[in-house]
Amino acid sequence: MELLKQKIVEQGVIVSDQVLKLDGLLNHQVDPQLTMQMGKEFAKRFGDQGVTRVITVESSGIAVAFATAYELGVPLVFARRKKTLLAEPDMLCERVPSFTKGIVTDILVSRDFLGENDRVLFIDDIIANGDAARGLIRIIARSGAELVGAGIVIEKCFQPGAQAIREQGIRLETLARIASLEGGRITFVD
Ligand code: 5GP
Repeated sequence: MELLKQKIVEQGVIVSDQVLKLDGLLNHQVDPQLTMQMGKEFAKRFGDQGVTRVITVESSGIAVAFATAYELGVPLVFARRKKTLLAEPDMLCERVPSFTKGIVTDILVSRDFLGENDRVLFIDDIIANGDAARGLIRIIARSGAELVGAGIVIEKCFQPGAQAIREQGIRLETLARIASLEGGRITFVD
């Protein structure tokens, strides 16, 4: 998406060769017009898949996941993040490392909102090492739901997450692919 790439260049702040701060766009402020367009794009790409629920992980995936769910006319479920594992017997839970926070958190989804009759589309903001995606994919598998694919706004191609997910046979669509952050420049793949 050209508009997205333009906004990434305008608003992105390169923190290191590995990390791009996107608070103005995804992680602190939300651009509603752009977000709705991203939702439309994901809905177009996955519109023929019979999606019954969109799922994401709180918090930065929620806006674009909402836009996608709105376009598809289905509910949005967001996995909750918790720092400690208290007894949550009715919840599906996976422990994942957090790329930006440097800590491990549990992500939890209630069995009330995900089950074997669902065809699920996973939406998120950024993929780096793929830990968050893998955790959620494990939860979806355990629920008995079918994962139809994943739509992630930004793919950092120099980190292994996206490729690993595709190698599992999962359809992963991304809207902007970053090849490198080296030299203080954002270089896109295309
Ligand atoms: P992963 O689990 O794929 O390693 O990291 C995914 C999560 O970490 C994303 O949902 C995103 O919130 C955060 N993240 C990873 N890399 C970056 C980055 O370069 N910039 C920002 N702002 N967040 C990132």
